[in-house]
Amino acid sequence: MSDHARDARRTQAVWGGEGGAFQDRATQVPVVHSVSFGYDDVETWRAVAVGEAPGHIYGRNSNPTVQVFEQKLRVLEAAEAVTSFATGMAAISNTLFALLSPGDRVVSIKDTYGGTNRLFATHLPRFGIGVTLCDTADVGGIERAIDGGLALLYLESPTNPTCKVLDIERLARRARRAGATVVVDNTFATPINQRPLELGADLVVHSATKYLGGHADALGGVLAGKAELVERVFAFREIDGATLHPEAAYLLLRGMKTLALRVERQNDNAFAIASHLREHPRVAQVFYPGLEDHPGHEIARRQMPGGFGGMLSFVLHGDFEAVARCLPRLRLAHRAANLGAVETVVAPPRTGSHVELSAAERAALGIPEALVRYSAGIEDVDDLIDDLDAALGAAGR
Ligand SMILES: *Cc1c(COP(=O)(O)O)cnc(C)c1O
Repeated sequence: MSDHARDARRTQAVWGGEGGAFQDRATQVPVVHSVSFGYDDVETWRAVAVGEAPGHIYGRNSNPTVQVFEQKLRVLEAAEAVTSFATGMAAISNTLFALLSPGDRVVSIKDTYGGTNRLFATHLPRFGIGVTLCDTADVGGIERAIDGGLALLYLESPTNPTCKVLDIERLARRARRAGATVVVDNTFATPINQRPLELGADLVVHSATKYLGGHADALGGVLAGKAELVERVFAFREIDGATLHPEAAYLLLRGMKTLALRVERQNDNAFAIASHLREHPRVAQVFYPGLEDHPGHEIARRQMPGGFGGMLSFVLHGDFEAVARCLPRLRLAHRAANLGAVETVVAPPRTGSHVELSAAERAALGIPEALVRYSAGIEDVDDLIDDLDAALGAAGR
C-alpha cells in the first residue's frame, strides 16, 4: 500500500519538536523530574508565570519533557496549538467539560470508543448537556441532527471495532456552518494516515497510549488544533490536574520517532491480512476500510491518503465458542485490551471493549458475537498469516 511518494511526516516524526538546547549538549530530550522551576529574579519569575516569557513554573501546568512531546504532535497534525493529558480519556473528557456548558447539545455517533460513549450517556447529561448519538452509517441522520442545532460535533473514524468510516470533511463543513466546534478522535488513523484539521475539524484528540507511543508501555493523551480552543482546554486541564507525567512523555516521545515506519508497516500488514481473511473458509465477514467493497472505502481513499490503518476486525463462522477456540492458538498476538502496539493484539469485543453491553446491545451496534478485533503489529506479514491460518484451523474443531 505505501508507495515511496515523498512524505514530510516521516521526517517530522523524527525531528518535529526536537532541537532544544539540553544540559551537557545531550542530543536526547532529558526526563525532567522536577515539580517546580526556580527563579532568583522575581521579575523573570513574574514574566514566566503570566506567559510573557518562555519557561516553566510548576509541573501540573508544564514541563520541558512534556513540552517536546506536545510539539512533535503539533508538527505532525499541522496544528496551531497542542496540549497533553495523563490519558486519552483525560484528553476527551477535559475537552468536552472545558468547551461545553449546561444547555449545550453535542452530536456524535453511537459507536465512539467505550469510555467516550460513557461520557455521552452518563456524565454530560448530569450537567444539563444534551447528547444526540446518531447511527454511524446514516450520514443523512447525522446531518439532520446537526441541522437541529448543536455546540459541538464529535466524530471518530475509523470506528471501534467494526471500522466504519465517516465523511469528516462533509460533516465538519455542515457543523461549522451551524456554528459548532468540530472534534475528531484520530487515534485509529494517526496523523500518518489522516489529518482531520486539514479536513475542516477544529480539534483533534488522541489516545497517545495506542499508535503514537506504539509500545504499550505508557498512557497519555493529546489535543491539537485551533489555538483559542486549545488554550481554553489547557486552562481547565491545569486546574483539573490530568497532567501527563514526564516519564510517560519521554516514552511516548521515543515511540513517536518511529511512528511513520510503524504505521506504514501496519497499514501494509492489515491490508494483506484483511485480503487473506476475506477468502478464508472459516471467516464469515471482514471489516477493513481498505477493502473495495467496504461501504466507506471511497471516503477512506480520499480522507486517509497515508493508508487505511492497522486495525481490522473479522467475524468467524459459528458462535463465540469458535472465537474461544481460535484465540488461544495464536502465538503471535497478545490477547489484550490495547491496540496500536508493535506486537499484534487481538480482542473479542464481547470480552473486551464492549463487555458491559448485552448481546442485544452489541447486535444493535452491529457487533456480532463472533467478532475479533485485530490490531496488526509490525511482524513479518507471512508469519502473521501462517499464525492466523493455524489458529483458524483449530476454530472449527
Ligand atoms: C484507547 C482509546 C481511547 C482512550 O484512551 P486511554 O489512553 O486509554 O484513556 C480513546 N479513543 C480511542 C479511539 C481509543 O482507542
